Amino acid sequence: MDSLGDSNGKNCRKCHVYKNFDLYYKNNKMTDGRHSYCKECTKQNAKKYNKTPNGSVKLYALQKQYRIRSGKQKKNNSIILKEIDRKIYENNLKLKELKKREIEINKEMQNFNR
Ligand SMILES: [Zn+2]
Repeated sequence: MDSLGDSNGKNCRKCHVYKNFDLYYKNNKMTDGRHSYCKECTKQNAKKYNKTPNGSVKLYALQKQYRIRSGKQKKNNSIILKEIDRKIYENNLKLKELKKREIEINKEMQNFNR
């Protein structure tokens, strides 16, 4: 076990390199308050994940949260937020469509198996 109390960093669970906590994103759910993956690995994971329909919806939601929190340039923000809302809406429609198709396929498969 690592001594969590007095260390300033930890090993990344992905690349297994010991890095300072500064190089990890904050995560309140973790006992040490940091992600288990370093920033570099988190970014690489996010790049892959964001290409999936689920991922892009979450990405836009995160961007929205971030922009609300950062709160500078309020005029621009409202335009950007509208844009993000629209994209979330479009993505949700796509997801619903995909899920519907999945259910239909599953039903057909069940009928086929009988
Ligand atoms: Zn890493």
